[in-house]
Amino acid sequence: MCGMTTISTLGSHCALQVLKGAKDEGFDTLLVCEKKRERLYRRFSFIDDLVLVDSFKEILEPKTRSRLKERQAVIIPHGTLISQMDSSQIESLDVPIFGNKWILRWESDRNMKEKLMVESSLHIPRSLASPSDIVGLVIAKRHGAAGGKGYFLATSKSDYEEKRDKLIVQGIIKGDADLYLQEYAFGVSAYLQYFYSPLDDKLEFFGVDRRYESDIDGLGRIPSKEQIGIDKIPSFNVVGNSPLVLRESLLDEVYSMGERFVEAARRLVSPGMNGPFCLEGVYDENAKFTTFEFSSRIVAGTNLYVEGSPYSAFLYNEPMSMGRRIAREIKNAEKEGRLQQVVT
Ligand code: ATP
Repeated sequence: MCGMTTISTLGSHCALQVLKGAKDEGFDTLLVCEKKRERLYRRFSFIDDLVLVDSFKEILEPKTRSRLKERQAVIIPHGTLISQMDSSQIESLDVPIFGNKWILRWESDRNMKEKLMVESSLHIPRSLASPSDIVGLVIAKRHGAAGGKGYFLATSKSDYEEKRDKLIVQGIIKGDADLYLQEYAFGVSAYLQYFYSPLDDKLEFFGVDRRYESDIDGLGRIPSKEQIGIDKIPSFNVVGNSPLVLRESLLDEVYSMGERFVEAARRLVSPGMNGPFCLEGVYDENAKFTTFEFSSRIVAGTNLYVEGSPYSAFLYNEPMSMGRRIAREIKNAEKEGRLQQVVT
């Protein structure tokens, strides 16, 4: 057993990878699990304990928090935490959160997100202040981590209004204020996974994935004649991930982008971009990367590499998943008496 710390997370997203990695590093593990998922998670022997809840929001209640504190839990935040709670609720948690909980707000708020990407000197798509500015192809995205649900493409103001009105009727959005308009970036999508260690001030590139998004990734299977007749707005809801390796000549810029992001985060949101993060975008025909989004915590695309990735293999002579890398960081911090540096 490592120190007294228990590694804990919510039962969804990448919980299996995170807790398996924690166990491999010798930690006790605890899962906050919705009752409906109990049967699933009981199948895995590396999960030592479950705290059963009706809804993840119960993590905000004193009863659940004191159970976590009793076990000296460190919570590993992931996409489910962000989608189930607002930023103030996450910030109010008095159980230590791995990485920087303050940066999660920068991920959820589209305007703050854009600012951090600009400050990182990343090439980003132009955002549009109003639907009247639409020229060419744009993507309308909902605020927060909506996982691509209710996103749509538009080529003109009237096209936008027609699709927006449909989503209002379906109860998915209330109006324009729920949507953020961005130029559509053409190219091959790539989700770049990094880990930054504040302990040794080092950035590690961990892997790349692509996302399969429904309905948009299924459209290519429908001939154009039939597509024209379909009266449905295709969404970008993530269903799964597939692996990708990049041309080696792209790696230098991959590291530079990650370093610029870490450097900007250090300036804008103390204590910086500690732990896992992801830059999300597309490579164009000149292999130039446009970043349309970032995640300031572990992404589910790392689930591909439970046994390590084609990139982690260059850094570690052992299978190193992102979940295990997180646990390793906590272990190293504990050994050096610097746990406070890797949690908030
Ligand atoms: P998540 O939290 O899962 O990352 P999100 O709700 O924050 O999702 P985005 O990642 O911004 O949403 O967008 C969802 C998907 O929409 C992307 O994976 C990509 O396929 C597509 N997309 C978003 N922005 C653009 C863009 N500017 N150009 C091209 N495609 C885009």
